[in-house]
Amino acid sequence: MPAETFEFQVEARQLLQMMIHSIYSNKDVFLRELISNSSDALDKLRLETLRDDTLQADTSDLHISIEADKEKRTLTVRDNGIGMSHDEVVQLIGTIANSGTAKFLRELKEAKDAAASEELIGQFGVGFYASFMVADEVTLVTRRAGESQGTRWNSDGEGTYTVESVDDAPQGTSVTLRLKPEDTEDQLFDYTSPWKLREIVKRYSDFITWPIRMAAAAPGEDGAEPAVETVNSMKALWARSKDSVTAEEYSELYKHISHDWTDPLETIRMQAEGTFEYQALLFLPSHAPQDLFMQGHKRGVQLYVKRVFIMDDCEALMPTYLRFVKGVVDAQDLSLNVSREILQQDRQIEMMRRRLVKKVLSTVKEMMSASPENYRTFWKEFGRVLKEGLLQDFENRDALLEVSSFASTQDEEGLTTLRSYVDRMKEGQDQIYFMTGESRAAMESSPHMEAFRAKGLEVLLLTDPVDEVWVQSVPEFDGKQLQSIAKGEVDLDSDEEKEKAEAEREQRQQEYAGLLAWMTEQLGDSLKEVRLSSRLTVSPACIVSDTHDVTPALENMYRAMGEEVPHIKRILELNPSHALISSLRKAHAALGSEPDAGTELAETAELVHGLALLSDGGELSDPARFSRLMADRLERTL
Ligand code: ADP
Ligand code: MG
Repeated sequence: MPAETFEFQVEARQLLQMMIHSIYSNKDVFLRELISNSSDALDKLRLETLRDDTLQADTSDLHISIEADKEKRTLTVRDNGIGMSHDEVVQLIGTIANSGTAKFLRELKEAKDAAASEELIGQFGVGFYASFMVADEVTLVTRRAGESQGTRWNSDGEGTYTVESVDDAPQGTSVTLRLKPEDTEDQLFDYTSPWKLREIVKRYSDFITWPIRMAAAAPGEDGAEPAVETVNSMKALWARSKDSVTAEEYSELYKHISHDWTDPLETIRMQAEGTFEYQALLFLPSHAPQDLFMQGHKRGVQLYVKRVFIMDDCEALMPTYLRFVKGVVDAQDLSLNVSREILQQDRQIEMMRRRLVKKVLSTVKEMMSASPENYRTFWKEFGRVLKEGLLQDFENRDALLEVSSFASTQDEEGLTTLRSYVDRMKEGQDQIYFMTGESRAAMESSPHMEAFRAKGLEVLLLTDPVDEVWVQSVPEFDGKQLQSIAKGEVDLDSDEEKEKAEAEREQRQQEYAGLLAWMTEQLGDSLKEVRLSSRLTVSPACIVSDTHDVTPALENMYRAMGEEVPHIKRILELNPSHALISSLRKAHAALGSEPDAGTELAETAELVHGLALLSDGGELSDPARFSRLMADRLERTL
């Protein structure tokens, strides 16, 4: 069959262009990527033979080899792993599966300079395509274990690639790079130099558990072919003593597991001995992946059994709200045949998971004091995900609240923890006040904030969509009730003030009883009640929710998700110290039983209601009518 020519998928083409024009300065990593793929392929083959004993595969000497040819300027990385079928080659090498690619490319386009682009590439990690940083032609020959027909893939990275069948391909995959002509003079940059290659393997791939073989640097005795040596130590990092592993080595393992090119923020090691023995090596990444909030995002913890890789993204080991944690868990007492279903029901696994979760949370807690800078990065990248835990993980709710931080009226830029909020609470204050909303600015100018500002009370400003949800189900922190300032009645006065205020309120209540009853009736279709406010100082009116009602933002969220939500009637609160409201009362009192003047007053009531809605970012039920009434009024003032 003749070679077929295919076009790269658009995103793949864009990425390749960037690789060819090399906006990434550390080109050495191409080798790490190829070795990482080979290592995965060997893991997969071992697993498949374990599960399927009819698979015709040779597993007698699984390894990776690196062969360089100085004269031809080629470099080959070969493995005898799982290989790929014809269709898999087209699927896997011609397209980019990562669901965050589009977003990533968009950001890349907007990146200001080379450094910013490089940082983005680093966060994304481009895998196999990294070969095109150093090669102007790449040839991949592969045969899937168990199949007889092999496939040859070839490309110069410029838009198209060819695929053809080959008869004599060995099991597994070889990737041959024709190296770019540049930098040939210097041994240090020459990717055919045995020293250079050895150095790269040692630096980036030493922990790979499969042998990586290379011809020895020096020829054998009497000029014979150099002997073949294994270059890596093959020791699993988590099996080595803590002191013997460097931060760089941990980083490289992290990069192999996560396909991220940047260093992790934090490394966590754990060990359990006794009846259920395991080692864990977990990482907190330094940035969120592009697809963290997309469906199908994988959890990054790999399961090993006695040093043998068993599965990626083992969901039994991490709850979804910790889906960003990467790492390895190596259990000594599981069967190599263990399935996901069995893991989900295993009590030992459940206990292990609980310990891992606690360890991750306590690590974050330690970060808060040991390296506040890292904690801030962590919270910026993953805080939104972590807060999902407040809804899912009752057992760790307190620990989660301890490590969470929020914007607050106290601090213009920084965030505060609940703990420090509580430490700052005023005498007599027994609740933690918060407000939810779309932006800090909108909340700060909200009428709900007025009385709190006047009294110098701190209010937490919650802007993440998930905040709307968890605040409904978390009643308190450290014995202090969490109180929305836009819900229920607020009572901010001291005892003395209270008595005075109580008397005043009583009097006002009597004065306003008529107006309130009338307005409640007028606006009864859309409102539950019209009452006097104790939270307003500047604005004439505001909308509040009943203590147990769903907030307007949450109501909108449910609607946006296509759920049927019955219309929830809110409460309109009036500020009796505002001239508009006191004049309204007088006008209503003077009205008597004149029906004509009533129409105009009813319109005023409607306008007051509309203003209250707008001041909080709410929606008017009939905006056209509102602006007509408003225009009418304005005209009369001229
Ligand atoms: P990633 O490793 O992040 O998935 P890569 O670009 O490195 O992305 O590789 C893309 C896919 O191509 C891999 O997921 C794998 O399925 C396949 N692949 C690459 N190299 C090999 C190999 N040596 N053997 C088998 N499959 C491979
Ligand atoms: Mg890869």
